[in-house]
Amino acid sequence: MLQNTQFGMSGPTAPGSASGDGFEIVTTAPRVALAVTPHPDDCEGGCGGALAKWVKEFGTEAVVVMCTNGNKGTSERGLTPERLAATREVEQRAASDIVGAKDIVFLRYPDGGLEDTMLFRSQVTREIRRYRPDLILCIDPYRSTSHTHRDHRMSGRVALDAAFTYAWSYRHFPEQITEEGLQPHRVEQAYMWGSESPDVFIEISDYLEAKTLSLEAHASQMSPATTEERLSRIANNAGRYKELTGLDHTEAFRRIRFGLGSIEWQFLYS
Ligand SMILES: [Zn+2]
Repeated sequence: MLQNTQFGMSGPTAPGSASGDGFEIVTTAPRVALAVTPHPDDCEGGCGGALAKWVKEFGTEAVVVMCTNGNKGTSERGLTPERLAATREVEQRAASDIVGAKDIVFLRYPDGGLEDTMLFRSQVTREIRRYRPDLILCIDPYRSTSHTHRDHRMSGRVALDAAFTYAWSYRHFPEQITEEGLQPHRVEQAYMWGSESPDVFIEISDYLEAKTLSLEAHASQMSPATTEERLSRIANNAGRYKELTGLDHTEAFRRIRFGLGSIEWQFLYS
């Protein structure tokens, strides 16, 4: 559970912290964080700094659910989709090692092939019930001013739906409970990266290098550049909320609190 966070105008503020109306700078970490991500490299770009920080400073267990095999992520015509998929799995393992993720689950859907199906929802639900995260991370599937990759939208929607309502109800995918020995699980919050309206910020200045190296591990996706050039690009990008937050480098998320277990929730669903 996220605790002791620094609040904006409506709550207590730690001395020297930057905060403001309508956003929160989070300085603690979840016990278990599960990132549902469409393609190899999306997770590192979206939340690699936060995950690396949480793992190193708080001992968070980080798990990555990789939805597709990224087998279309090339302009090299001679490279077969099978070979590319195999390469990207190796790259993803290396990237997740740098971040410090404990586990990666590969669902291996074809690149561009994600649909919001019962099967896909059941697979993400299974991993939520298995790893029991207090926080999930995914791409914000709801944008209004920019278009995103279909897999990004599908994976974000399915992650949110799996957390609320599938994972906590005995009635959804009951075979996971009766046959696989899993239990329902309540996820407390979702952090969505790539949002048009982020309201949660995490300081990642000490983890820019880890983020850069974890992105570089996806060698098949990298344009030619030195580590220094990439680091400076990533630092620039992470600095875009500096004026708002007062922090040099952040990762930004939109947050949903599911409110599971609250009085309102118990009244409605228990
Ligand atoms: Zn992607």
